[in-house]
Amino acid sequence: MAFPAVLTAQSDTKLALKTVCIDPGHGGHDAGCVSRDSKKTREKDIALSIALKLRDKIRAAYPGVKVVMTRSDDRFIPLNDRAAIANKNNADLFISIHIDATTNNTANGHSVHVLGQSSNKNRDLFRSNMELTRRENSVILLEDDYTTKYQGFDPSDPESFIFFNLMQNAHLEHSLDFAAEVDKALGTSKIPRSRGVRQNPFLVLWRTTMPAVLVECGFISNAGDLEVFRSDAGKNSIAEGLFKAFVAFKNKYDNSLKSGGAIPVEARREEPKREDIKPAAPEVKPVAVEEEAPVSGVYYGTQILASGRRRPANDSFFKGHKPKIIWTGRLYKYVVGVSDSLSEARKKNDELQKFFPDSFVVKVDGENVEIVK
Ligand SMILES: [Zn+2]
Repeated sequence: MAFPAVLTAQSDTKLALKTVCIDPGHGGHDAGCVSRDSKKTREKDIALSIALKLRDKIRAAYPGVKVVMTRSDDRFIPLNDRAAIANKNNADLFISIHIDATTNNTANGHSVHVLGQSSNKNRDLFRSNMELTRRENSVILLEDDYTTKYQGFDPSDPESFIFFNLMQNAHLEHSLDFAAEVDKALGTSKIPRSRGVRQNPFLVLWRTTMPAVLVECGFISNAGDLEVFRSDAGKNSIAEGLFKAFVAFKNKYDNSLKSGGAIPVEARREEPKREDIKPAAPEVKPVAVEEEAPVSGVYYGTQILASGRRRPANDSFFKGHKPKIIWTGRLYKYVVGVSDSLSEARKKNDELQKFFPDSFVVKVDGENVEIVK
């Protein structure tokens, strides 16, 4: 198993953001959502058009950046193939482009999503997130054999699935960075209304091994947004917003590496082959809660989870371990197997891998949690 590692800046050009994967949602026999009027405008066509415009803008401005498309024409691509295309091409960023729809035709504006569990603090928002996530994930029902491909994932109940124990966890902060740039830049598009950045369990983001966001550019069910989607200038303004976000993120990403890698870049992990995919480690009934050793100042440990909402230390996800919970200013990070000594923390991580296969060793310094090789 490969561990996430802090890469030291050896060569700027080698480490800069150099491949981006653009994923126009739906395609082929999956139209996505469709406008209710007689024109029957389809999500798959709008998403493709915006994606191609974004591709052309990036290619024109950055000839050195490779732009990989999951599709560049009207064809059906299973959700897990989309992540596989990004992973195989070692993409540094994944952008999935979609259009929203709902029965309430006054709802409008864009929303940006990273992988995670929905927060149910606001019940109405939670319900609308669930409706959206369910709709986007349900496209797997159009695929053959989806139950084995997605390990029994039930699209009608996305919250039932544990998405935590995955590499995407390590990229959450970069994903949130890019999502914030998208949210800001779309404010200058012809669909300027922001519905915010959210964490939701979107299946298409599940197996990506790089910062990844899903953008719902606006609502096909809203007359104003639909008019924007039907005009070339409207779609161009959205592609321009996404492009601005890409530029801002790339500058930040490249600079962080030039300045000595202040933001750790995790080593990529190969997409697991079908036969390598094992079911998640069985739930272990906790005999007693394992308290962490007292530590002070800088210490080391194993990060098993990062999340936007705080989970209690006795949550069953922690399998009987009582993690140190560190608020980093944006995320809660959960660290177990702590020690003042790095080698001791590594030893504990070897054991913890049995229960948390995608966990990794971190150095904790106040609210700073940094991945160590
Ligand atoms: Zn969609």
